[in-house]
Amino acid sequence: MKSESLHISQVPFVDLKAQFASIEDQVMPAITGTLQKCDFVMGQNVEKFEEEFAAYCNTKYGIGCDSGTSALELVLRAYDIGVGDEVITVANTFIATTLAIEFTGATPVLVDIDPQTYMIDISKIEAVITSRTKAIMPVHLYGHPTDMDPIMDIANEHGLIVIEDASQAHGALYKGQRVGSIGHAAALSLYPGKNLGAYGDAGIIVTDDEAISDKLKLLRNYGSTKKYHHEMLGYNRRLDTLQASILRVKLEHLDEWSAARRRNAERYNQLLADTDLILPIEAEHSEPVYHLYVVRTDRRDELQAHLQERGIATVIHYPIPLHLQKAHQSLGYKQGDFPLTEEYAEQILSLPMYPELSDEQAAYVAEAIYEFMPAKVIA
Ligand SMILES: *Cc1c(COP(=O)(O)O)cnc(C)c1O
Repeated sequence: MKSESLHISQVPFVDLKAQFASIEDQVMPAITGTLQKCDFVMGQNVEKFEEEFAAYCNTKYGIGCDSGTSALELVLRAYDIGVGDEVITVANTFIATTLAIEFTGATPVLVDIDPQTYMIDISKIEAVITSRTKAIMPVHLYGHPTDMDPIMDIANEHGLIVIEDASQAHGALYKGQRVGSIGHAAALSLYPGKNLGAYGDAGIIVTDDEAISDKLKLLRNYGSTKKYHHEMLGYNRRLDTLQASILRVKLEHLDEWSAARRRNAERYNQLLADTDLILPIEAEHSEPVYHLYVVRTDRRDELQAHLQERGIATVIHYPIPLHLQKAHQSLGYKQGDFPLTEEYAEQILSLPMYPELSDEQAAYVAEAIYEFMPAKVIA
């Protein structure tokens, strides 16, 4: 193992430069094309990308916008969710999920995580449903699909909307269905570091609901579909044509990149099988796309420092659970409210993960981990 990785001294957490180099000859003409056409706002590539991405997700409509956070907020607003309403989501996610709920005036109601999936503990959802509950927002975290069937059953029984936050799971499959096509609607971030990422901020909503799609088109564009005719108080939250033209090129590569992420996860699973680390588990129903490869250990901080010394970049997703964030103080949660989320926040570590990660780099990461925690001895 040592000899093959001798020349590696650094592994970044993600490598967007390597990805750009691999598609430069396709991306540059797309950018130049938009610059020559100068159709920067609501140009043809926006509609084309929306159609192509919706088709990719197996949904009827795609509505591009300026970020994942916008996508989440706009779709909540499209369902008339606002002041006085409650939206159920999970304590372990990126804060954009709960910020978007708060921006509408609604209240995020948090649920602890499942010990296996690190996602919403579905058995705890019904206990927090009240007469104010309007929606459930499951998050397909780290690229793993949430178990959607029981969530849809609960939602149907209580008349709730389900909005998937699929920002980390573009293209992941749940029982053969694309995430984003299972709930009433889904919001996805297209931030540069996401599995499908623009070269700046971007986001998209997908849905089969024509009325919601029509409303979203108004909400993102000054409440207008015809210039200077305004039907409602809408925002300026559009997807740039330049980004759409780049995203169309990148969408062509998404499946091959997802396959590479899955292969890299498989490689880590094999290499790290003899460590004491708790490795990610794939649910039977799922084909995850490994936005992140998250391991767990009681000696997380020491391991992270050790890997840092070896030039290996790691990140914690996420170090402070949402209910303990200062920004969410007004929700009134306290330490101890979501014990598993709190416990895992001290143990989780995301290893370098991106499609271009080589076998040698993965081997170098594994080697550094074995330096820190010698292989389990089997007597
Ligand atoms: C990235 C992300 C978002 C927010 O997306 P932006 O494009 O950064 O606004 C929302 N939810 C989750 C789960 C994310 O990972």
